[in-house]
Amino acid sequence: MSTVSQNLTELKKQLPANVTLVAVSKTKPAEQIMEAYQSGHRIFGENKVQEMTKKYEQLPKDIQWHMIGHLQRNKVKYIAPYVSLIHSVDSLRLLQTINKEGAKNNRVIPCLLQIHIAKEETKFGLNETELFEILDGDEIKNLNHITINGLMGMATFTEDKEKIRSEFKTLKNLFDTVKNRYFSDNSTFSVLSMGMSGDYQIAIEEGSNMIRVGSAIFGERRYQ
Ligand SMILES: *Cc1c(COP(=O)(O)O)cnc(C)c1O
Repeated sequence: MSTVSQNLTELKKQLPANVTLVAVSKTKPAEQIMEAYQSGHRIFGENKVQEMTKKYEQLPKDIQWHMIGHLQRNKVKYIAPYVSLIHSVDSLRLLQTINKEGAKNNRVIPCLLQIHIAKEETKFGLNETELFEILDGDEIKNLNHITINGLMGMATFTEDKEKIRSEFKTLKNLFDTVKNRYFSDNSTFSVLSMGMSGDYQIAIEEGSNMIRVGSAIFGERRYQ
């Protein structure tokens, strides 16, 4: 067995049945993705439109591609035909663009709203006020070519486990609030995407049901 499939097998053994694993393959070549594919994995995450689209074209069509990185509105059209979940929606305007491109492609595109939970300036995402503005607004009711499937967040990059835990707790609470207030009779809103290689165990303990793991599967990256 290759290292990639070994890592994947070990990781999957630890995961509760309700947790979906997104194998983050950004910067990694198609051959390594195929190693994971051959061991049965089908869900891969990328953070750049061009790279994801190239891999989509090269690789088997039953792969589910998740966009996890910051997404510019003018690039949505490239992924709209095939993307299976966009984790990184951080504005109403982006949601409107995804909706428009979904309509052009005659499909409904599943989306997560990315929430800013880290205490770092550099991370993208909505704060709570912006989130509720979108959910309370009238515009969102007209978007028939997207679905809001849940929330996504990234914890602060730190060794401080209690800080990470408390940020995940905050996101889980927000998820529950949003679910109860806006989606209580809508089972589509069900995904809480939180946890990466360094913190997925904590994320799962705090209620994550989708983790995005790259380096623990494919090895360290030289660049982002
Ligand atoms: C790169 C990336 C990951 C995976 O990071 P690892 O630490 O390699 O597991 C997860 N989520 C997002 C948004 C990323 O950009």
